[in-house]
Amino acid sequence: MNLSRKAMFDEMGISPCWVLREQPSVAREAPRTTRREAVAESAAVVQAPASPVVMPPAAPSDAVAGMDWDSLKRTIRECRVCGLCAGRKQAVPGVGDENADWLFIGEGPGAEEDARGEPFVGQAGKLLDAMLAAIDLQRGEDVYIANAVKCRPPGNRTPEVAEMAACRPYLQRQIALLKPKLIVLLGKAAMQAVLGEDGTLSSMRGKTLSYRDGATEIPLLVTYHPAYLLRNLPDKARAWEDLCRARSLMRQLRTAV
Ligand code: URA
Repeated sequence: MNLSRKAMFDEMGISPCWVLREQPSVAREAPRTTRREAVAESAAVVQAPASPVVMPPAAPSDAVAGMDWDSLKRTIRECRVCGLCAGRKQAVPGVGDENADWLFIGEGPGAEEDARGEPFVGQAGKLLDAMLAAIDLQRGEDVYIANAVKCRPPGNRTPEVAEMAACRPYLQRQIALLKPKLIVLLGKAAMQAVLGEDGTLSSMRGKTLSYRDGATEIPLLVTYHPAYLLRNLPDKARAWEDLCRARSLMRQLRTAV
């Protein structure tokens, strides 16, 4: 994709240029909790005992840990470990350069991704492509894009903790095969899936974190999910800061080699 700088900024909705705006210091990423879930949550405070979370078995991590790219993708496409397989058209393993230095991790496929078998091809994907272009990256070139869960959650709901746990061995194997120099987590679900971190996104962004793959520590940053940014335009300025940090960190990592 060869967007001019202006077209790229137009696409990101930040024309004529990025401006850092003043924001109230409240938690910024609205949780995608439905009204019913919110009611259930508040009810859970008074109902005892809480019903146990039934965890599906994770994908067998020993077997998955030895897979090459082809068998991993085939296994993901055939996976029936959790209930998400029942509603999918197809699983969406990931897309991009399998030798990439950059790994971006989103939440899970939506309707368009489910139909096409590729992550981030809808509106959020257009914005992600523009975000990549803003730091001189292009889908498929030195970039790999994956999701915390590989099958579409019904109605595009947020994946449940148990579903992310069931899918985790696949993501772990993707990271191990890819050996990226830098991981960028897009949104709170990716943050939960990869870091097991339940804090707010705004408390985690701006820090250089790390993901441990055996003896290797891979630097990791957290930023907003593009779908969230489509609904919360002022936070694009913060996402831009995160992307600039990511780019300068990558430069340092490359010169450190
Ligand atoms: N949102 C995601 O998190 N992943 C996709 O693939 C599409 C939308």
